[in-house]
Amino acid sequence: MKDCLRFYIDGSWVDPISGRTMPRVNPASEEVVGRVAIGSAGDVDRAVKAAAAAFEHFQYSSRQERMALFERIIRAADARRADLGAAITNDIGVPAWFANGYQTDMALDHFAEARRLLETYPFEYRLGDNTIRREAFGVCGLITAWNWPAQLVTSKVAGALAAGCTVVLKPSEYSPCTAVVLAEIMHAAEVPKGVFNLVLGDGPGVGAAISNHEGIELISFTGSKAAGVAITKAAAETVKAVHLELGGKSANIILPDADLQVAVADGVRRAFINSGQSCIAPTRMLIHEDQMARALSIARDTAEGMVVGPPLDAQTKLGPVANAAQFDRVQDLIRAGIDGGATLVCGGLGRPEGLTHGFFVKPTVFADVRPDMRIAQEEIFGPVLSILSYRDEEHAIQIANGTTYGLAGYVFSSDLRRAARVGSKLKAGRIFLNGAPTNAMAPFGGYKQSGNGREWGVFGLETFLEVKAVLGDLVDV
Ligand code: NAD
Repeated sequence: MKDCLRFYIDGSWVDPISGRTMPRVNPASEEVVGRVAIGSAGDVDRAVKAAAAAFEHFQYSSRQERMALFERIIRAADARRADLGAAITNDIGVPAWFANGYQTDMALDHFAEARRLLETYPFEYRLGDNTIRREAFGVCGLITAWNWPAQLVTSKVAGALAAGCTVVLKPSEYSPCTAVVLAEIMHAAEVPKGVFNLVLGDGPGVGAAISNHEGIELISFTGSKAAGVAITKAAAETVKAVHLELGGKSANIILPDADLQVAVADGVRRAFINSGQSCIAPTRMLIHEDQMARALSIARDTAEGMVVGPPLDAQTKLGPVANAAQFDRVQDLIRAGIDGGATLVCGGLGRPEGLTHGFFVKPTVFADVRPDMRIAQEEIFGPVLSILSYRDEEHAIQIANGTTYGLAGYVFSSDLRRAARVGSKLKAGRIFLNGAPTNAMAPFGGYKQSGNGREWGVFGLETFLEVKAVLGDLVDV
C-alpha cells in the first residue's frame, strides 16, 4: 500500500486539516493500492500564507542564488530518478521503460533549461529613455493533470522559481505519488521554506480554493477545457493572471511525396505512446486519397505490433489508461466511431485479448472518418487514431484547422520547404516537421481553445514575470 496523506507546506510535511481521503487504484489491476488525502480550503490558505511569507525575500534573490538553487535541484532530482520513474508508473500505469526514460528525462530537462536561462536572461533593459524591469509575479497557484505527472509539474515549477515566484502546487488527485517525490526532491535541494508548497486534493475542493484565493496572483493550469473555464471564472473575482494549457486534437498531414512507411508508422506511434494520453498526440492522420489503402495497411501493422500489457512486463509498449473514468470515456468514443459509420481498421471495444482486469484499451485505428464525426472533433485521450482522407494540400490544411483546438500540428514531406509552408498555415502552437523530436527550449501552448499563454524555456519563464516600466531612471554613462 502506498498512501499519500501529508502535504508539504513551509518546508515541512504536515497533516491535512481534515481527514478526507480517496482510494488510489492501480490502473493495471483495478486494485486499491493506497489512499490520497483530499485537502480543503484551510490547507490551501495555510500554504498560501507560507508562500506569501517566502515571497517577501525570495523575489529579491539574485540570479546567482537561483542558479545555485537549480544546481541543487538538478543534483537532488538526479539522485531520485528511479523513484520518480517508479512513482509515475505507480500513479498512471505507463510502462516502466517509458516512465523511467522519456517521462523522467523530459521532466528534468526543465530544471536544466531554467538553470541555463538564468545565466543570461535580461531581467532589466533599456527601452528608449526608460528602464524595463521583469519582476517576479508573486504567489502562484499551479494546478496540473495526471497524464505526464512529473513533466507538467516541473515545467511550471522551473519557470516560477527561476522568475523568483513562490508556489502552491495542486497535482491531479490521480497522480499524487509523483508530486510527493518531487516535493521530496525540493526538500533535499534545500529550496527555501515556503517557496514550494504541495497540497493534494481534488478540483472542487483544493483547485477551487486556489482559484479564488486573495493571496494568489497567477494560476498556471494544465487540464481539461471544462476545468480551465471554471478556474478562469473563479479567478476573475480577484483579477488573477490565468494561463491555460488545455486539450488538443492535432492533425498529422502526410503529404503525397512523403515516405509513407516512415510517416504513417511514426504517426501511429506518436498517437499511441503514453496510451494515447498526451495533449499534443497527433490523433487525426490526414492521408491523400490515392494512398489510403497502403497507409491503412501500415497503420494496422504498426498498431497491432504495439504490445499492450502490465507496466512492469519487459515487452509492454502500452500500459492501461490511467483510471476508470478515462477507460469509460475512451470506450464511449470508440462506440461513437462505430455508430457514426467509421470503419474499424483494428482494435475496437473492450480489452485486448488475454487481459481481463485493468483499464487496458485495444490500440484502435479508424478509417473513413469524416471531419464532422465526434472521433474527428473530440479529444479521446486513449490509443485511438482517426484517419481522414484529403484531395489536395488546401483541403488537408482546411481539415487540419477545422476543430476548436490548436495545440500542435504535424507535417511530413520529402520536401522540407513544402512541409514548412504547410506547417505555417496550421493554426497551432507547436509544429513538428518530418518527425522532429520535442525540445524543452521551444515554447509549448495552444491556439484557439487549446489554451492561452506559453510554457517551457524562456516563454515559460516570462509567464511568471511582471513588467515594470521605470521612467526617468538614472542611466550609467
Ligand atoms: P482535469 O481538468 O479533470 O483536471 C486537471 C486538474 O484540474 C486536476 O488537478 C484537477 O483536480 C483540477 N480541477 C478539476 N476541476 C477543477 C476546478 N473546477 N477548479 C480547479 N481545479 C480543477 O483534466 P485531467 O483529466 O486531469 O487531464 C486531462 C486533460 O488535460 C486533457 O484534456 C488534456 O488534453 C489536458 N492536458 C493538456 C496539456 C497541455 O499542455 N495543453 C497537457 C496535459 C494534459
